Amino acid sequence: MSTSPRKPLVSGNWKMHLTHFDAIRLVQQLSYALTKDDYKAVDVAVHPPFTALRSVQTVLDADDIPIVLGAQHCHWESSGAFTGEVGPPMLAKLDVRYVIVGHSERRALFGQADEVVNRTARAIQAAGMVPIVCVGETLEEREAGSTEERVGSQARAALEGMSSEQMGGLVLAYEPVWAIGTGRNATPEDAAAVCGLLRRLVGELAGDDAAASVRIQYGGSVKPSNAEELLSAPDVDGALVGGASLEADDFARIVRARTLRS
Ligand code: PEP
Repeated sequence: MSTSPRKPLVSGNWKMHLTHFDAIRLVQQLSYALTKDDYKAVDVAVHPPFTALRSVQTVLDADDIPIVLGAQHCHWESSGAFTGEVGPPMLAKLDVRYVIVGHSERRALFGQADEVVNRTARAIQAAGMVPIVCVGETLEEREAGSTEERVGSQARAALEGMSSEQMGGLVLAYEPVWAIGTGRNATPEDAAAVCGLLRRLVGELAGDDAAASVRIQYGGSVKPSNAEELLSAPDVDGALVGGASLEADDFARIVRARTLRS
C-alpha cells in the first residue's frame, strides 16, 4: 500500500482528435471500462477539444460518471477581442476542472512563452480551476546535461507570483519533449528523479505543506505496457497521456496500473 497523501491523477489529452460524436462514444466506452474502485483510487480526467467539451460534459453529468472534465488550452484574459480564443470563465461554466498549460506542442508550435504560461496558469486559478503546468526538456537539452536547469527554470517561471496554497493545489506534469508522441518514454528512474526535483522546488518556493500536496504527473509515451513501472515512484502522482488515451481499454489499463500501487 502506498502511504502517499496525494490522490493520483491520470489525464487523457485528446489533442486535436475526435468530433463531438466520436468524443461522446469514447467517454461512454471509458465509463464502461472503469469501475468504482478505479475512481476511488485515482482521479480520472479527459481533455477533449473545445468543440466536444459541452457534449462530454452532458454525458458525464446525465449519467453521473465521475470522470472529470479538462480542457487543453485557454487565454489568460476572461473575455475580449481575441478571435479564436476561449477565456477561463467560459471553461469553468462548463464544469471544466483542469486546464493544460505550457504543453510542449503549444510552446513549440504556437510560441507559448514562460511568461504566458504563468499568466494563463494564474488566470485558470482565478477562475476556480486547476492548471496542469507542463514542463520538459528537449533531447538536445537532455544530452547537454541541462535537464534540471531547463525544467527548473520553466517551473519557477510558471509558478511566479502564486501563493503557497495555490502552488500546493496545482498539478505539474513532467513531459520530456522527446518522449511526447514518439513511443520513446523516459526511464522510470529519470521520471522519478525529475518529479522529485520538481517537488523539492515547490518545497523551496512554498514550503513543506505545498510540496506534500502538489501533484506531479509524468507524461510522454505512457502505455499500458510501461505505466506500472513509470508510475511506481512515490513522487510520481499519475500520468498525462496523449495517444493511449484515445483507446478506452488502453486508458483504463493505465488508470488501473496506478490503482495497483495505491
Ligand atoms: C501529451 O500529449 O501530453 C503526451 C504525453 O502524449 P503521448 O502520450 O502521446 O506521448
